[in-house]
Amino acid sequence: MELIDTMTLEGLLYDFFGADLKKPSQQISEQEFNLEIDEDGKKYKTRGFIDKLFLYSKEKRAVIRDFKTSKQVFKGKEISDNLQNLMYCLAVKKVFPEYKNIEVEFLFVKFDLQPDLLGSPGKGVLKMEKISEEELEGFEYQLTSIQEYLESFNEDDARSNLAAKQNYPSDNTFGGPLMCGKEGFKKSKGKEVLDKNGNPIPNYICEFRNPFDYYAIINKEGVLQKCVFTKEETENIDPEFFVEKRSYQGCPHFEKTEDSSFLV
Ligand code: SF4
Repeated sequence: MELIDTMTLEGLLYDFFGADLKKPSQQISEQEFNLEIDEDGKKYKTRGFIDKLFLYSKEKRAVIRDFKTSKQVFKGKEISDNLQNLMYCLAVKKVFPEYKNIEVEFLFVKFDLQPDLLGSPGKGVLKMEKISEEELEGFEYQLTSIQEYLESFNEDDARSNLAAKQNYPSDNTFGGPLMCGKEGFKKSKGKEVLDKNGNPIPNYICEFRNPFDYYAIINKEGVLQKCVFTKEETENIDPEFFVEKRSYQGCPHFEKTEDSSFLV
């Protein structure tokens, strides 16, 4: 709780309302975007939301602020190839096309956000380089290829690329069959490892490895809107929607082989 309070305070002190920049003509929290583009050889769909958006109509300037609670400030490729930065700039370009000067700031609230005595930004403030029109155009073509790939993606593609079929990672990352985990409990020298209450500690296991039931929320036209894991999550849905209980058969790899002996 104390941590959240400190983080909230950092965010507020940084001027959540954008007045540190001067009075915005419009400020929007959680600006949603839902893009469906089909123009000049670009065809993609994407949606999301922006934490805080400040619009300055006179300067045609849009400032996007995204609050992060991560333990580290971005570095390296997280800065140079930041997908969120590209996506936010693209969203503002499409939703507010008259705003040509788009700036993105990531605010890491676990770090100091206040400027120092010389006015340099605090350690937790990351102002991104401006994205050029050409870069955004390139990003749109990239989204178009991803969209094409997703639209032609079928069950055979999915089955051919399961983590269980990949090699074990050689670089200490959590990839390959390690992602699948295994049934049972942690053991050391043949004995179960116990937690501080004397209970055996379960092994990590991928949440999609075993079968489970879930609930599909469907609109009145019969189009699937969303899937949720528990019945409680279906209680406050749009009264025109209906809920269907469905079963997931488990990961096809394990369903087929029923043999996890190759896993450590
Ligand atoms: S259990 Fe199946 S779904 Fe889960 S990581 Fe392994 S291959 Fe992927």
